[in-house]
Parts: sequence; structure tokens; C-alpha cells
Amino acid sequence: MPMAKSISKYSVGVGDRFGLEGAAQLRAFRAAKDRGVTITPVWNKSNREHSLIGTRPEDVRAEADAAVNSCQWSGPYFVDADHIGLATVDKFLEASDFFTIDVADSIGKSASGASMDTYAAEMQRFSGTLRIPGIAEPVTVSPASLREIALKYLFAVEEAGRVYRHIAQRKGAGTFVTEVSFDEANSPQTPAELLFILAALARERIPVATVAPKFSGEFLKGIDYVGDIKRFTREFDEDLAVLAFAKQTFGLPAALKLSVHSGSDKFSLYPIMRQAIQKAGAGIHLKTAGTTWLEEVIGLAAAGGEGLAFVKALYRDAYGRYEEIAKPYLAVIAIDRQALPTPNQVDSFTSQEYVETLEHNQACKRFNIHFRQMVHISFRLAAEKQSQYLALLNSNRSSIESHVTNNILKRHIEPLFLGIGA
Ligand SMILES: [Zn+2]
Repeated sequence: MPMAKSISKYSVGVGDRFGLEGAAQLRAFRAAKDRGVTITPVWNKSNREHSLIGTRPEDVRAEADAAVNSCQWSGPYFVDADHIGLATVDKFLEASDFFTIDVADSIGKSASGASMDTYAAEMQRFSGTLRIPGIAEPVTVSPASLREIALKYLFAVEEAGRVYRHIAQRKGAGTFVTEVSFDEANSPQTPAELLFILAALARERIPVATVAPKFSGEFLKGIDYVGDIKRFTREFDEDLAVLAFAKQTFGLPAALKLSVHSGSDKFSLYPIMRQAIQKAGAGIHLKTAGTTWLEEVIGLAAAGGEGLAFVKALYRDAYGRYEEIAKPYLAVIAIDRQALPTPNQVDSFTSQEYVETLEHNQACKRFNIHFRQMVHISFRLAAEKQSQYLALLNSNRSSIESHVTNNILKRHIEPLFLGIGA
């Protein structure tokens, strides 16, 4: 019997729009390992991203395998079918061994009367005042509050069960890692909600490895957290406490950990998350967005000449097609169009000016978060001129790769896992 696939205590999900930077990304994990911290790499790409750029899950698998071979990475690694459901999972079955089951669309749909009744009966033993170690306020559980939680989440968890079993029937149980995500819900889950969601996941017998709750505040693409940091700190601590309690109480996998769908670059949260997981002895999965693409743009801008001309033209194109390119991302960007430089201004930029406007260095006066978000969502415009784009990447390969590795290592892995910087 093959050994069940498992993910280590720490893992990071990386995206790569054009699929050329796998080895450069993996070098960041290698550097962490050389410094004593093992982090499992996970390559994630959602259905939406595949369709915008014209790639397939098999491409991500090929990239991951090639990266692992070229870097002689001997630990586990995964290819994540990110935010899938029953309607979208099939094309990921072959290539993926990590599935992020997203049931946000099913939240609030009502489970059957019979299943509501069974759930309520089974959960009744928690009625009253529940003390969860690590949470200051006791959680009050009444039949009415249980019913409210079940009305909101039970059907969604049952749906996760259906998706899990669909995958397990085709791939074989134990051959893949399962994440269940609620991060695209409308509001953050309370400790009681998360607890009874986990209870329901256990009833569905989903061997859930990671769970992605929603936190308050905005997790926008490629920029820092926008929101109340104190509140995030409390929510994150509470979620860790609920997870630890739920593992003991419901017999969920001991390695179950939180997954944070960060949208990348949540620099102000890394020290907080680090402190909390260290204190709790907890693991974590940090899912980042495709900011590797921005490192490619930065590499071309820094190269000057044709590279700089290409990324200037890309911006002009994006500026003129704002509505079209922003449309799929409106929920996860906050671009003030008045604060964007005009294409003419960008055309006058030197290499250094372009890089400094784009690169996520909050201490730099020239850094513009609107410009950064705009370029971040413009990858499909480079896909339209793919042969030219890929040729340019090729001729600047080594400098781009060092940008890619450094971005993951210095800005994400070091502050979260090594306690350096940030
Ligand atoms: Zn997500």
C-alpha cells in the first residue's frame, strides 16, 4: 500500500502565471531548508487563472516535477487544484495531489431536514457553556445557536464531503491532501462557527489537512493587509485555539492546520502569525498569489532596453483596458485610478523609476500600490504577446530568477518562518 501523502508542518503555496519560475521558486525553499526550516512547496493555480492565461493543470504538474528534479528536492511537494468544486474539479484530477475544496457558494443553502436533525442531536452534548483553552470568553451553545450555524454551514460542509468523495473515488483515498476553504465567505467565522464547521467536517470523514477560514480585513492581491491588525491577531489566535480543541474533540487529523489565503505580501501580519504559531506549536499553510509574475516584470524593467519598453507598453495597454482586466478581480483589488501614473508618465520612467514604483517596498517614496495592483492583474496582456514576452524572459533569465527567489525568501519565508526582517 502506498504511504498516505502528507504535508509538513509548514508549507507555502506559490503561484506562477507563465510556469517558468518553478526552479527559482524552489530555491527559496531550499535556502530555508539549508537554514534548518523545512517548508513544503505547493504550486497553486485556480481554474480562473488557468482560463485567463490558457494553461492547464498538467502544465503546473510538469513545472513542479521539473523544478524538483533540477533542484534535487527530496521532500514532499504538491500541485494544488485551487478553489475547485464539483463543476470544476475533473480536469485537475490527474495532475493535482492537493485539492482546495471551496464551498463558499454553498454557505447559507439549507441542508435537508433530516440531516439538520441528526446534526443537532449529535451536537447537543456541547450545549451550555463551552470553554476552549486559549479563548478568553466561554462560547455559549444553545439549540438555537447550533441551528443557526447548521443553517449557514451544514449544507456547505456536506458539499465538501461530496467533492472529497468524488476525488477519493477517482484518485484513491490517501493519495492527496485536502483543504477546505471558507475564505470567500461574506463574513469571518466566529469561534463557535469554526468549531461546529470542524465537527461537521469530521462527520463527513474528510481527512482535512488544512482549513482556510475567513478573517476580517482585506486580503488584496499583491499588497499589504488592510484592516484592524488587533482584530486579526485575536481572530487568528482564536482560530488556532479552536483547531487544537476540535482535533482532540472530534478526532480530526492531528496535523490539521490553518491555511491563510493571503493574496501575497501581508507583511504586517507575518510577525503576528509567526508569534501565534510558535506559541501554539501550530503549523501553517501560507497561500500566496502570483506575485512571481511581478518579479518577472521587475526583472524586465531593470534590464532596460527592450525589456523596459515591453513593460511600459504593457502598462499603457492595461491602463486603456482597465474595466476588462479588472473585472474578474474587483473583489480583491482596490485601485484608485486617480492615483495611477498616466502611460505617458510611465513612458518617461527610467529602469530604476519603474522598478521603484512597482516593487513592494513601503519605505520607498516612489512605491505606488495602485500601480502595483494594476500591473499584478495585467498578466493576461503579456499572455496575448506570449512569444515576445517569453523571449524577453529568456534573455534576462538569471536576473529574473534571482528576483523570484529573493522575493519568496526575503519577503515571505524569512519573516514568517525564520523571524528575520519585516
Ligand atoms: Zn482563497
